[in-house]
Amino acid sequence: MDIKLLSREQETLRFVLSDVSPAFANALRRIMISEIPVMAIDDVMILENNSVMYDEILAHRLGLVPVTTDGSYNLPEECTCKSELGCEKCRASFSLEIEASEPIEVVYSSQLKPENPEVKPVSDKISIVKLTAGQRIKLEAYARLGRGNVHAKWQSVSAATYSYDEKARTFTFLVESTGTMPPEKIVLEAARIINTKSVGFGEGLGGMTES
Ligand SMILES: [Zn+2]
Repeated sequence: MDIKLLSREQETLRFVLSDVSPAFANALRRIMISEIPVMAIDDVMILENNSVMYDEILAHRLGLVPVTTDGSYNLPEECTCKSELGCEKCRASFSLEIEASEPIEVVYSSQLKPENPEVKPVSDKISIVKLTAGQRIKLEAYARLGRGNVHAKWQSVSAATYSYDEKARTFTFLVESTGTMPPEKIVLEAARIINTKSVGFGEGLGGMTES
C-alpha cells in the first residue's frame, strides 16, 4: 500500500492510494461516511421558548449544527456510567439564553455557550431561529459521540469520494470534513476501525476452528 498526499486545504484532503484492492478503498470510504464517532447535539432541555418555532424543530436544528469533536469522550454505550443521561465523560453541554430586543433578531450558533471549549460549534454563523422583540429562548443542549450510520448529524465528512484509474490501479481520494475533526484524522481513524474489524474477524475465525 502506498499513499501520496496531493493537497490539504481548509477541511479538504486529497490523496492517492495505490497497491490496494477496490474493496479496501471502498471500505475506507464507507467507514469515513458512517462509522467515525463524532460529537453532535442529541438531547435538548427546553426551559423557555415562545418563538414561532416548535420545540421539536428547534431541537432538530440544534442537532444539525456541526460541533468539534474532542477525542477525550466515550461513546455513550461504552461509558462506565451506564446512565441514560450520561456523565462528564460521555456528554458535553451547551446553554442558550436569549431575549430579543429588536423587531427581527437572528439567533446564531455563536450564541450557544459550550461548557467545554473543545466541543463548540464548527461555525459561528449558522442561523438557528428568528425572534421578534420580547420572544425568549432558554435551553440546555447535550452533545454525545455517535456514528453516521445512526443519524447523518454524526457524519464526520460532508464528502468522501474517490476516482479509480484502472490503468494505474490507483484511487484518488477527496475527503472533506464537516469541520468536526481534521480530515487526516478521519482517514487515520477509518484505517484504525478497519484494522479493529479485521482483528475481530480473525479472532472469530480462530474460534470457529477450535469448536
Ligand atoms: Zn458516561
